Amino acid sequence: MPQGQQDARAPEVPAPLSVSRVTLRYQTEKGLVTAVEDVSFTIGRGERLALLGPSGCGKSSLLRAVGGFLKPASGAILLNGAPVKGPGPDRMVVFQEFDQLLPWRTVSGNVEFALRRARGLSAAAARSVARDWIGRVGLARFADAFPHTLSGGMKQRVAIARAFAVQPAILLMDEPFAALDALSRRRMQDELLALCEETGATTLFVTHAIDEAVHVGTRVLVLSAHPGRVAAEYPVSGEAARRGTAAFAALEAEIQSRIFGSEPLSSDAEADHVLEHA
Ligand code: ADP
Ligand code: MG
Repeated sequence: MPQGQQDARAPEVPAPLSVSRVTLRYQTEKGLVTAVEDVSFTIGRGERLALLGPSGCGKSSLLRAVGGFLKPASGAILLNGAPVKGPGPDRMVVFQEFDQLLPWRTVSGNVEFALRRARGLSAAAARSVARDWIGRVGLARFADAFPHTLSGGMKQRVAIARAFAVQPAILLMDEPFAALDALSRRRMQDELLALCEETGATTLFVTHAIDEAVHVGTRVLVLSAHPGRVAAEYPVSGEAARRGTAAFAALEAEIQSRIFGSEPLSSDAEADHVLEHA
């Protein structure tokens, strides 16, 4: 099946994720805060939707709602056609923070724990699957290490291995590389992409960096600033999916201008186009 397309042979199968007219609000001391308003999108099987928008536009809130941690004020979230009622092992989340691993378990222990809980594997089976995934993210030598002995990038690799190992209906990633240095970030983006393509994982990937959205996503959904609303949507196909091509730069520039208006693009192709001030 081509990247980013639903399986035309099975039109009756509901999309892995359908978000329909969702509004999210928080009750605060100063009253109700609307995080996102009337947001709709679907993610087809094997698609990677990059949810792109400025800081504070509600990306994490949307991800939390899909994760089942935040109940929409209105609208519906369907996972394989069924309403999301709470968290579940069919959704695995990778966060930005480096402290998402259980500190008292080893690298392998962290992945095994998730496998036993989410997939009900025996200890031996969980160990075998965990070792396989730890190897696939390049950490075979660190399987018995504890998280505090790892670099930030290595911890993120463990979190990614754990998420893939469980084989959820959808992977939810909330700026997983935002706290990494630029070189590590590039490498991790490429590694993630390779794993996604190899496994066909359906993914919701949140980011505030345009180049990362275009690189990782098969589709980019742009949210406007607070409160977040859908501002634009771009398919990423063919040449545009490959960093360094003219088509990639053109799409990046188009999204940039969609968000910043007529401000000139940086001539530095390596620059991250951060939307913090959009
Ligand atoms: P993003 O991930 O795009 O930076 P968030 O989803 O974190 O945005 O936040 C969206 C809006 O909701 C912001 O205005 C933020 O202040 C508000 N918000 C987020 N979490 C909470 C919370 N727990 N309580 C109150 N307001 C919140
Ligand atoms: Mg966020």
